[in-house]
Amino acid sequence: MKIGFIGLGNMGAPMAANLAKAGHDVTGYDMATVTVNGVSNARTAAEAADDADLVITMLPNGEILRAVAAQIIPAMRKGAVLLDCSTVDVDSARTVASDAEATGLLPLDAPVSGGIGGATAGTLTFMVGGSDEAYQTALPLFDIMGQKSVHCGPSGNGQAAKICNNMILGVTMIATCEAFALADKLGLDRQAMFDVVSTSSGYSWSMNAYCPAPGIGPKSPADNNYIPGFAAELMLKDLRLSQQAADAADADTPLGQAATDLYRRFVEEEDGQGRDFSAMLPRFEKRGRG
Ligand code: NAD
Repeated sequence: MKIGFIGLGNMGAPMAANLAKAGHDVTGYDMATVTVNGVSNARTAAEAADDADLVITMLPNGEILRAVAAQIIPAMRKGAVLLDCSTVDVDSARTVASDAEATGLLPLDAPVSGGIGGATAGTLTFMVGGSDEAYQTALPLFDIMGQKSVHCGPSGNGQAAKICNNMILGVTMIATCEAFALADKLGLDRQAMFDVVSTSSGYSWSMNAYCPAPGIGPKSPADNNYIPGFAAELMLKDLRLSQQAADAADADTPLGQAATDLYRRFVEEEDGQGRDFSAMLPRFEKRGRG
């Protein structure tokens, strides 16, 4: 396939490299000067999109996605797929999709989980919104860049799935961290706490697969001085998107809101910036009730 790839950052660069390595003809564009193995450089986003069978965007936020979409939609040929893999607000995803559809393109929103490691290894999970026709066209590329894709329904539903998942993740990570800090104060050994909870009804991905306590459970960023992993500021971004969507949809999400408030304080007022999101445990450890 002839692929345009716009946004060659931490995630986009290795994803584009994997597509090129698999034999696709990839033309990239980033506003910063970036060189990616096997990917030729265009001078503008429109040039990267022109004549492509499929254009992938991997950009920081919805505002930038809307701006880039306004440049590339007119340049793309009818019937081509516009595949946005960024994490953005549901509203931007749906607006870009309807603009793309209006000019005869096939839009997909397909945010990912798996982080930079997954992007490099080609083991991302894609949560996909859009038509079945567009999904089937992009499927061979999901198989190269990732290990799993789930078609979640029409445009915007990929973003909806991503923010609902990450809202649960933020809440369960906080719950796991505050429970460890309470267990410490009650004199309960962390290993015993893990052994019980990881096999009881309090279990979760945060406890079982990404345990925030150093030296306990499988290897995680806690064992590497909380170097991300999944940075607290990225968790904050996704939690904010969840609350923006909850406002727009009039959904009551009190724990999602509480998690957003806690991560905001952690990142903006405490020492959370640049640390893994599981560093909530040392944060709780230091605090009392007051
Ligand atoms: P990044 O900041 O490393 O990359 C974004 C790239 O977009 C940068 O290279 C930037 O120069 C480029 N860019 C910005 N504005 C542009 C424009 N107008 N035209 C062309 N290029 C432009 O970010 P990232 O970590 O690669 O994340 C990309 C997206 O993936 C985000 O939406 C993020 O939330 C999501 N995501 C990231 C991770 C992660 O672990 N990093 C995990 C899952 C999802």
